[in-house]
Amino acid sequence: MRNDRLLWSARLGSNSLTPMDAFDRIVGHETPKRLFRAALGTDRLAHAYLFEGPDGVGKMTFALAVARSILCERPVESLACEACRGCRRVDSRQHSDLILVARDPGSRQLKVDAIRELQAQLSLKAMEAGARVALLDDADRLGVSAGNSLLKLLEEPPDRTHLFLLTSNRPNVLTTLVSRCQVVRFAPLAPEQVRQVLDLQTEHATESLDAAANLSEGSPGQALAHLNDGWFELRDWLFDEFLAGRGDPLQRAARLSERVRAPIPGEKKKVAPLEEQRKRLEGALRLLLSVFRDVRLAQADVPVDRWLHRDREDRIVDLAEACDPTWVESLPELATEWLAALAGNVTPELVGERLSLDFQIALAPRI
Ligand SMILES: [Zn+2]
Repeated sequence: MRNDRLLWSARLGSNSLTPMDAFDRIVGHETPKRLFRAALGTDRLAHAYLFEGPDGVGKMTFALAVARSILCERPVESLACEACRGCRRVDSRQHSDLILVARDPGSRQLKVDAIRELQAQLSLKAMEAGARVALLDDADRLGVSAGNSLLKLLEEPPDRTHLFLLTSNRPNVLTTLVSRCQVVRFAPLAPEQVRQVLDLQTEHATESLDAAANLSEGSPGQALAHLNDGWFELRDWLFDEFLAGRGDPLQRAARLSERVRAPIPGEKKKVAPLEEQRKRLEGALRLLLSVFRDVRLAQADVPVDRWLHRDREDRIVDLAEACDPTWVESLPELATEWLAALAGNVTPELVGERLSLDFQIALAPRI
């Protein structure tokens, strides 16, 4: 009988074949794997975990692997069999004992109603497996009443319930919540590991995969987003237009704003929602920062193979020659101000204008 459970993988440096388990399919994250293999194996799972790590690093993928192991109908040594109905329904996120809590698209915070709904669901008996798993994304985006409701749940967790809170911004998670969770850290992956994930999941050309892996800051999700959401195109626009120092800074700010406000493909509204605009501008800003990290390396004669944007070596060299090193050094601090303004009440449009003017001052006289 052929079954996914019988997938075998040859361990490097050994002639013996060992079966793949639910976690073997995940690239990297060895410490969390050890932790959960042990906890699942000894039936000592905590009621609540906080998974912290960069966006797209694999926290949700990992949480779903744990959820499969908890809700599997035929576990193999306490881990998911990856073949039963339970495992398949977790994968398609349709298992009735798997509860997913996330922000509404376009909303900055997780609403208290979502937490109340979670409470209500957890007060009912488990439907199928006897255990229940709740995955709550963006645990840093809880308002006061949502946070309090969740705290109440963590203080008196229903039987056989396991909550997984996910965050890419742990300092913003309420400390009372953190103290009730076992914290599991997901570190950025090495570029080769990101590349491995991309190889499994996409069919883009090799050069794009290399560049995406290098530029992903250790996050496969970010690399995939880069490949699919016009990120490379934005980067080249920033290199060739925004940073070219030509023309009126306000006109460039207007073009930046146009990109940021462009409607979401397939949606009716003519302008993207403010939250989406903020996300896009923040993306552009982080991209600019990564470009200038390379400029700084170039100014310090660090070899090209250590640069992120090495495929745009010529432009980095131009910018390194043109920019005052003191200004380049002060850029991260400046960017912190822009990001704080963006996270506050300043409109993306105004932040974009400020940004264009600052870059104009740094670049215009020389490029
Ligand atoms: Zn299973």
